[in-house]
Amino acid sequence: MSNETLQAVRGMNDILPDEAELWLWFEGVVRDWLDSYGYRNIRMPLVEPTSLFKRAIGEVTDIVEKEMYSFQDSLNGDQLTLRPEGTASCVRAVLQHNLLYNAPQRLYYSGQMFRHERPQKGRYRQFHQVGVEALGFAGPDIDAEQILMCARLWKKLGLRDVTLQLNTLGDTASRLRHRAKLIAYFEQHVSWLDDEAKRRLYTNPLRILDSKNPAMQDLIAGAPKLMDELEAEALEHFAAVQATLKQHDIAFEINPRLVRGLDYYNRTVFEWVTTRLGAQGTVCAGGRYDGLIEQIGGKPSPAMGFAMGVERLLALLQDDGLGLPKPAVDAYVVHQGVLAAQLASRVAEQMRDESLRVVMHCGGGSFKSQMKKADASGALVAVVIGDDEAQAGQVSVKPMQGGIQVRVSVEQLNATIRQFIKQE
Ligand code: ATP
Ligand code: MG
Repeated sequence: MSNETLQAVRGMNDILPDEAELWLWFEGVVRDWLDSYGYRNIRMPLVEPTSLFKRAIGEVTDIVEKEMYSFQDSLNGDQLTLRPEGTASCVRAVLQHNLLYNAPQRLYYSGQMFRHERPQKGRYRQFHQVGVEALGFAGPDIDAEQILMCARLWKKLGLRDVTLQLNTLGDTASRLRHRAKLIAYFEQHVSWLDDEAKRRLYTNPLRILDSKNPAMQDLIAGAPKLMDELEAEALEHFAAVQATLKQHDIAFEINPRLVRGLDYYNRTVFEWVTTRLGAQGTVCAGGRYDGLIEQIGGKPSPAMGFAMGVERLLALLQDDGLGLPKPAVDAYVVHQGVLAAQLASRVAEQMRDESLRVVMHCGGGSFKSQMKKADASGALVAVVIGDDEAQAGQVSVKPMQGGIQVRVSVEQLNATIRQFIKQE
């Protein structure tokens, strides 16, 4: 047997308590924000049939071709995949349980996603997304709503330096025309294409536009533009989205090269980007996917959604030096002696009855060493109980940031601590 310390899987991170404070705070802000727009929580399994993602995301995409953790269930032979994103699972769940039968749905989920990528800052093999989906809505109003929502969240988080990029992918007919023109254009310049582009030339030429290969950028810049093929209806939809954004003073840049990495998008697509995270600059991305619901077996229904990368957002906030001032506990109870220990656990429960946050010292030791632990805990006060206090049914309350220690009866304890909290 090896004595080597076991390590987490590469690209999959532990979130230790200090950092988890930031996550909890973030999750609280996000939850209030989603509530304020009437989006409701949905929770799907982490594992789905592989065929779901192949069908939803598209066979010729980075995710399906090379990033999925897929495996065979050794007990029954099923082909399964750790979810690489949430939209497919969310739509699957909505269809399976008939949620769209009566009313459109505004939904959100959050949690782990898995993609086998090369780990680097802001790019992990297990990462977290908050995903927001509005199913059954056709109009540009919901597109604008979701973009406005994002802008509000950045404000609530105090996030700086994220900018909005916007594009429209049009509808099927215009995309097919554009696709044919793209293939013809790249065929004329086939010697400039890298291997990946050559492979995608006939299967997914739009994705060539998304290539980050510097040697192909000039070629890509000169490629036929989808914008030139768009139909009036798609253009009107796009104009309406832009008008609402302008009305709300949301700045954006139209980026005709924004095509998104997944097959299912149409019409409005958007990304919120920053220049502060190197190549991993997209913190939030989404768009309309009117064809997806039918593609995975439902009655045709329009839909719009987006997902944000939690690690990238938190990295930005940490980069800004966001500090969380709130101490983790209100009181740390130190005690010595049998009688004192009994009283200590009684007053600890009494304080928790009134929602105070209390750590009771466990494991014995001198008063001095217990006070050190109290200090390290970040508690506002130490509640000190020796034999003396225990005999008298009293406790001493010592403010940790300096100030006068007071001795009070057990009955007065909660009110006394509240006084100290108020003074903070
Ligand atoms: P990228 O171009 O960076 O690979 P993507 O287009 O693959 O992103 P989406 O599928 O749109 O990403 O996912 C939405 C968001 O989730 C991204 O904008 C990003 O913030 C985050 N994200 C995606 N992949 C990862 C990853 N491997 N690690 C951390 N965050 C990720
Ligand atoms: Mg990717």
